[in-house]
Amino acid sequence: MAFEYAPAPESRAVVDIAPSYGLFIDGEFTEGAQGILDKTVSPATEEVLAEYTRGGAEDVDRAVRAARKAFESWSALPGRERAKYLFRIARIVQERSRELAVLETLDNGKPIRESRDTDLPLVAAHFFYYAGWADKLSYAGFGENPRPLGVAGQVIPWNFPLLMLAWKIAPALACGNTVVLKPAETTPLSALFFADICRQAGLPKGVVNIVTGDGATGAALVAHPGVDKVAFTGSTEVGKAIARTVAGTGKKVTLELGGKAANIVFDDAPIDQAVEGIVNGIFFNQGHVCCAGSRLLVQESVADELLDALKRRMATLRVGDPLDKNTDIGAVNSAEQLARITELARSGEEEGAERWSPACELPDSGYWFAPTLFTGVTQAHRIAREEIFGPVLSVLTFRTPAEAVEKANNTPYGLSAGIWTEKGSRILWMADKLRAGVVWANTFNKFDPTSPFGGYKESGYGREGGRHGLEAYLAPSKPKASEE
Ligand code: NAD
Repeated sequence: MAFEYAPAPESRAVVDIAPSYGLFIDGEFTEGAQGILDKTVSPATEEVLAEYTRGGAEDVDRAVRAARKAFESWSALPGRERAKYLFRIARIVQERSRELAVLETLDNGKPIRESRDTDLPLVAAHFFYYAGWADKLSYAGFGENPRPLGVAGQVIPWNFPLLMLAWKIAPALACGNTVVLKPAETTPLSALFFADICRQAGLPKGVVNIVTGDGATGAALVAHPGVDKVAFTGSTEVGKAIARTVAGTGKKVTLELGGKAANIVFDDAPIDQAVEGIVNGIFFNQGHVCCAGSRLLVQESVADELLDALKRRMATLRVGDPLDKNTDIGAVNSAEQLARITELARSGEEEGAERWSPACELPDSGYWFAPTLFTGVTQAHRIAREEIFGPVLSVLTFRTPAEAVEKANNTPYGLSAGIWTEKGSRILWMADKLRAGVVWANTFNKFDPTSPFGGYKESGYGREGGRHGLEAYLAPSKPKASEE
């Protein structure tokens, strides 16, 4: 008989959520000028977690002015002083990580095991990593005395709310910029808690400002003439609109957009290891991952064996209460996202692909989608071309490495790819041919603050993470008079 192990769910009592939140501008929580409050709900229960303020153009203006004022003194601080604040923030994130992990799980719907073991450690790691750069920028290869750009306007999505914030804020501050950040409308809470961490760390007023709101709030931030640098992570559609807004303004822009990654399994790959990588590639974070391995390309000769093993493994995945430490797949982030996933999955059936899910009971309230596999998929199917951003895997087959490359690259996106093979030479050959910003070999969805991340084609431009991530927030130093 199987051993039933059911520890108590992580208690939400560790996090104290206020009934309503203002905007964080110039070091203070303040009311918004529009007087509009929106609600954020737990996608697992549809319970209202809190109300938050919808920032308007006037609020964005106030935040940008506060950031501009703070920039004068923040950018003049020696790097080692800025580093102290970043180290302090990193340590407070670690100290408060249990509270923040529960908060993130409540607001986003992701399993507590992922917020606890992946999101929060990576958030702290980003602040530690960029703290280390703050006093070494003249060694970063951008000239002897690279300068910060000024005020960064940053807009982030809902899939990794606190981690996307860390990807944006840590390098910006390390380089001496100040920030106005707008979190996504369905996950504003961790950014507001982060504002409190900034206060706790004694960060000077105005260096970080958080303006919650919707797409219009984001659009006002991006268009504000006082913003020198725009950093956006989100959909390709909005990314294109932002590129049009900033065209010709002289603002520096980085865009991290959608993806449709191929996870490519060759016949010599260790099957069990590949199955774990495929499962992690598409079911981690409910598949709400821009670099998710949403297309499985499997070599024809091992397709049957691999799919059998994959189905057996999928049957063990537990879908349900995100606060339960045993849960593998939590709630879909919103009703809108659930509708989008459902519609795309239906298109897969209508276009003739074969749909399979393990038997799994889904909770009655909240937004849920069972792990789903489509076989018999062709490159023309929508589920092979469009980003689903959910726990849905499309399986295609190939015969030769060249065919695998052709199929993997046959997408408007180019964010990531995975290769599973024993052959080192094949990994190097494939990595060179794949048009993807990140190529993983015999692993998937591995993130590290030291590694640059970003896309080709419609997945965006610019890199975040690593030394490359500094480039987005620095202007090269002026050449010395003798060099001119
Ligand atoms: P989205 O583009 O709808 O929203 C992202 C953010 O942009 C939100 O904060 C939203 O309020 C804001 N926004 C909406 N319209 C705007 C406008 N006109 N101007 C400025 N801001 C605006 O995307 P989403 O649904 O929140 O996130 C899912 C998408 O994000 C997926 O396509 C995914 O691939 C992508 N993503 C990419 C990465 C990456 O690193 N490449 C990481 C995570 C998510």
